[in-house]
Amino acid sequence: MTTPATRPLTALEDIRARIAQAARIAGRPEDAVELIAISKTHPAEAIAPLIAQGQRVFGENRVQEAQAKWPALREAHEGIALHLVGQLQSNKAEDAVALFDCIHSLDRPSLVDALGKAMDKAGRRVPCFVQVNIGAEEQKGGCAIADVPALLAAARTADVPVSGLMCVPPADIEAAPFFALLAKIAADNGISQLSMGMSSDFEVAVMLGATHVRVGSALFGARG
Ligand SMILES: *Cc1c(COP(=O)(O)O)cnc(C)c1O
Repeated sequence: MTTPATRPLTALEDIRARIAQAARIAGRPEDAVELIAISKTHPAEAIAPLIAQGQRVFGENRVQEAQAKWPALREAHEGIALHLVGQLQSNKAEDAVALFDCIHSLDRPSLVDALGKAMDKAGRRVPCFVQVNIGAEEQKGGCAIADVPALLAAARTADVPVSGLMCVPPADIEAAPFFALLAKIAADNGISQLSMGMSSDFEVAVMLGATHVRVGSALFGARG
């Protein structure tokens, strides 16, 4: 019998294996976590190899950059899902609804209104995550924790579908308590999906219940 030559894991295989391992440790099904490959700043040539390896879910943080990159990639490959993970200006709501399959940065009533109108006009409801400013950081996007229930109510009124909560914890401190807090806020509000965990902390996020992890540099290398 011949044994297949061993080769090093690709970055994508490595991340997938680590997500599966973290899920196993936490007693969660391995397929409970969606890996979103964050391709912001990286050109189509860097994205194509991941698509060739079977990755289909990608994230961008700028509407204009995504408009420039993704229509051609989508034409060439079936089944691509595109998530918006960056701050969204209300005047870009129509463009975002046209291009993205999920929006992770719903964080204020004016954006609920703009997205509601854009979805009405497009005849398409795009699932959203409410971004929570989990570390109460002044400079950071996201809804204040105390305002989450009111924002969820506004979204229901405007028929903007909210499937989960999202956070980016403060840099340079242990992320786990912030992930646990986001999970508690979600549970308190009857919400089941959690978009949390990036290259440096996705395993702990998975152990604390992440359903979506957003991994960029660990897949693509450092951004220039
Ligand atoms: C860039 C970005 C990521 C990915 O960050 P990495 O540290 O490169 O994995 C995840 N979420 C958001 C909101 C981002 O802007």
